[in-house]
Amino acid sequence: MVYTLGTLKGRNCIITGGSRGIGFAIAKLFFSKGANCLLISRQAKHLENAANELQADGNNKNEGTVSFLSASVGQASFWKDFGSTEWIAERPPDILVNAAGISQEALFMRASMEHSEAVVQTNLMGTMWACREVAKLMKKKREGPASIINISSILGLQGGRGSAAYAASKAGILGLTRALAAEMGPMDIRVNAIVPGYIMTGMTEGLKTNQKDALLGKIPLGRFGHPSEVAEAASFLALNEYANNCVLNLDGGLSAHL
Ligand code: NDP
Repeated sequence: MVYTLGTLKGRNCIITGGSRGIGFAIAKLFFSKGANCLLISRQAKHLENAANELQADGNNKNEGTVSFLSASVGQASFWKDFGSTEWIAERPPDILVNAAGISQEALFMRASMEHSEAVVQTNLMGTMWACREVAKLMKKKREGPASIINISSILGLQGGRGSAAYAASKAGILGLTRALAAEMGPMDIRVNAIVPGYIMTGMTEGLKTNQKDALLGKIPLGRFGHPSEVAEAASFLALNEYANNCVLNLDGGLSAHL
């Protein structure tokens, strides 16, 4: 028997952080392959711009749809009510991508605990709540296999000065991914993670020139990654029906150097 990759056409995909950066690139690729995408992030204006950009892209010949919801993923109340939203009523979810995240750049003892808490709340608790509530919906009603893709970070694997809360949140995402891959595999819900290195988005554009140069000197490929390269990895994990508990490093080889 020959196994082939599944398809994104007609699949219902929830993408947190879908308004910008990596999440937006994933939404763009999934939508171009005919998926019905629901983008979730906080700022309504950015969501609207993202949805307009996708819809204006004449390349979508596969008749996917795009919708958006403005919310903060770290709020438990949002996820508890999520199952009763109109989008869910019409589209039982097949794929969840957790890309919403905020960064931190401060030495641990100087960083405010409020910001550290917000980082963990958004990155880890936001992912955890989304996994829990969306997996319940996936289990209830869907056609075909389901897939969850969590975006971790190289800092969650290897740490790094000035990133304690961020690194903790991203390491937590890896632990969560592994535990859920074991629990949810038998329900045909696959759970995988992408571990990006440095990707060209709003999150990295604020790095100082000397920081960028130091990083570029360590990346064997000599460049930062492009969000579309992360999107291709997300598409692979969404479609490969034997990928479960896969932790996919996408860092230009940086992890070989840290
Ligand atoms: P961006 O800052 O470009 O985008 C972040 C996205 O997350 C935006 O859509 C933002 O929208 C959304 N977001 C932030 N906080 C919340 C919240 N509380 N609730 C809902 N949405 C939220 O970052 P990237 O695209 O670079 O990052 C995407 C993911 O990839 C993050 O998890 C990040 O940690 C991870 N990552 C990024 C790397 C990089 O080099 N860029 C490297 C490794 C991992 P809004 O502000 O409107 O809410």
